[in-house]
Amino acid sequence: METGKHKHDCKEVFALLSEYLDAELDAERCDEIRKHLDDCPPCIEFLESLKRTVSLCHGCQTAEQPPPLNPEVREKLMAAYRKSMQNRARQGL
Ligand SMILES: [Zn+2]
Repeated sequence: METGKHKHDCKEVFALLSEYLDAELDAERCDEIRKHLDDCPPCIEFLESLKRTVSLCHGCQTAEQPPPLNPEVREKLMAAYRKSMQNRARQGL
C-alpha cells in the first residue's frame, strides 16, 4: 500500500501544532496537519496530551477562540516533545 509522502516531518508539524492550538493557522495549514496526523499515531498522541495540557492551563474553559499559550507553557511542551522524539529515536521508530 502506498503511504504517500509527508509534506512535513514530525518536527515541522510540531512547530505548526502550537499555532494550531492557538488558532493562528489558516485552513490550508490545518488541513496539512490533519493529513499528517492521519498517518502518524505518535503525533496524534502528542496532540492529545498537548490539548490536555492547554485545557488545564486555560482552566478547562471552552472558549471559541482560546487565548494564546504563554511562552513558558510553550517551552515546557517543546521540551516534552523533544523528549518523546528522542525516546522514539531510541526505539528505532
Ligand atoms: Zn508525525
